[in-house]
Amino acid sequence: MKKIVIAIDGHSSCGKSTTAKLVAAELGYAYIDTGAMYRAVTLYLLENNIGFDDLARIEQALQQMHIAFKRNRRTGRNELCLDGVIREDEIREMRISNLVSEVSVIPAVRHELVRQQQRMGRKRGVVMDGRDIGTTVFPDAEVKLFMTADTYTRALRRQQELADKGENIPLDDIVANLTKRDHIDSTRAESPLRRASDAILLDTSHITIDEQVDFVLERVSAALFAHAVQLTGNTPQGH
Ligand code: C5P
Repeated sequence: MKKIVIAIDGHSSCGKSTTAKLVAAELGYAYIDTGAMYRAVTLYLLENNIGFDDLARIEQALQQMHIAFKRNRRTGRNELCLDGVIREDEIREMRISNLVSEVSVIPAVRHELVRQQQRMGRKRGVVMDGRDIGTTVFPDAEVKLFMTADTYTRALRRQQELADKGENIPLDDIVANLTKRDHIDSTRAESPLRRASDAILLDTSHITIDEQVDFVLERVSAALFAHAVQLTGNTPQGH
């Protein structure tokens, strides 16, 4: 069966990655968390004392660092590896969340990560989540979603996620972080966060994860059906 690209963009903490992961598992597709890649670059710059305005060193760093995803057999999760070491927990810490949007505005960082993401999805059969997947990384994605939810709901979900990992952060700090990141992400010059004209809007404030996954899977079936009709000029059997 034809393999497609599913692009899931949207605001911070509205359930993109949970939905993307489950959709990928259901379809046997790869899941690529592009936010993790921006977080990994942020961690690398911090650890190597590279200032966010030091463009020469940033460009050099982008050539040196190696970002990959490795499947953890124990958890079944795809974990981010920076230079061969799993750094999944560190990249999710608040200190990285507080700085990642400043790193994501840097054009050299975006160009390099977009290039890597396009390579990762070149054989298609991927679910990719981020901010610019449907607009910049895969403007030809067969299924595009733009997810959002109200800020309070998103902050509560993020707080729970961090608490599960032992980081207890006041709700106000999380609201401030989400609002700041959304603002920087939507107003930057290079591939800002915006809904592609052909992306379906999904507000997740009042729906469950199962409903989100079903919604995406229905769109995938519709896209595959449309493709089959286009190929054969006939309606596939069973429809
Ligand atoms: O998805 P997550 O919240 O982990 O993303 C962290 C940050 O990475 C975002 O706030 C945004 O600044 C940046 N990002 C981006 N483009 C993407 C994915 C993430 O600029 N495709």
